[in-house]
Amino acid sequence: MSADVAFIGLGNMGLPMALNLVKAGISVSGHDLVKAQVEKFVANGGASEGDSAAAVAKAKVVITMLPASRHVESIYLGENGILKHAQPGTLLIDCSTIAPDVARRVAAAAAERGLTMLDAPVSGGTAGAAAATLTFMVGGPAEGLAAARPYLEKMGKAIFHAGGSGAGQTAKMCNNMLLGIQMIGTCEAIRLGMANGLDPKLLSEIMSKSSGRNWALEVYNPCPGVMPNVPAARGYSGGFGVDLMLKDLGLAVENALSTGTSVPLGALARNLYSLHSQSGAGNLDFSSIFQMFAASK
Ligand code: NAD
Repeated sequence: MSADVAFIGLGNMGLPMALNLVKAGISVSGHDLVKAQVEKFVANGGASEGDSAAAVAKAKVVITMLPASRHVESIYLGENGILKHAQPGTLLIDCSTIAPDVARRVAAAAAERGLTMLDAPVSGGTAGAAAATLTFMVGGPAEGLAAARPYLEKMGKAIFHAGGSGAGQTAKMCNNMLLGIQMIGTCEAIRLGMANGLDPKLLSEIMSKSSGRNWALEVYNPCPGVMPNVPAARGYSGGFGVDLMLKDLGLAVENALSTGTSVPLGALARNLYSLHSQSGAGNLDFSSIFQMFAASK
């Protein structure tokens, strides 16, 4: 068998994204270091060619959905990496959230080999990944995006061309800094209301119809009992990990230093997520920062 797409990284996001390609009738070979994730992919209708290098060598499109910059660098540029095995004409799409300068470096190495690579990070969370309603923020050449569109459209509903290589990652970095700040603000506001005897569900409803409305409050409420089907309703499992949010806030703060931009709230959010991670919450969903703000009396 030879799959059109080699999909590498079948975690919380990659697994439902790859399965949406399969549902759309595209042949996909799925790969992950964790065998159980590959088994879930196969059990739900996907295929796996075992060796990812062989799958990459035969694929028309390679999609990666990995945790951080270092994983992307090693999987593309490493000894046995994607750039060694991809055939001319193969389109490379990295959907991971990583540093813009790393995205540019890897894309430049791909271009040296005559391969087009896009950075295409996503927003919308695991629910958006499952429902194929993700937003893609794409950096790279317009012809590359035109070729990627038929695949991205099966996984998302909004596709933006942010600019040249790395621009998708820059847009994602700005978005996630805002998200981290909004999540913390939302936790503080709900906790303050609760400390004053307000029902968090009613307060969330009021603020959702008022000027404090935001995505963390309306779609991803951090207070257990307010909403079904969010990480707060299942002990903060699944979702978007605290350590991944910490990584993204770190990208924003480092970038702000290098560009001379002031991000006081982004820096504070990074520090709060760092403390939360150090308390042992690194693998919980990022809305678990709600636990940090319990009233002391
Ligand atoms: P995850 O940790 O659940 O999944 C990452 C997967 O990559 C894991 O299954 C891991 O085993 C696999 N992996 C790591 N190195 C590998 C390698 N060398 N070869 C094969 N597989 C490898 O993370 P996630 O939540 O799916 O997030 C993935 C990316 O998407 C991150 O950059 C994250 O910041 C971003 N993101 C996540 C969300 C979310 O809500 N979870 C939303 C938007 C963006």
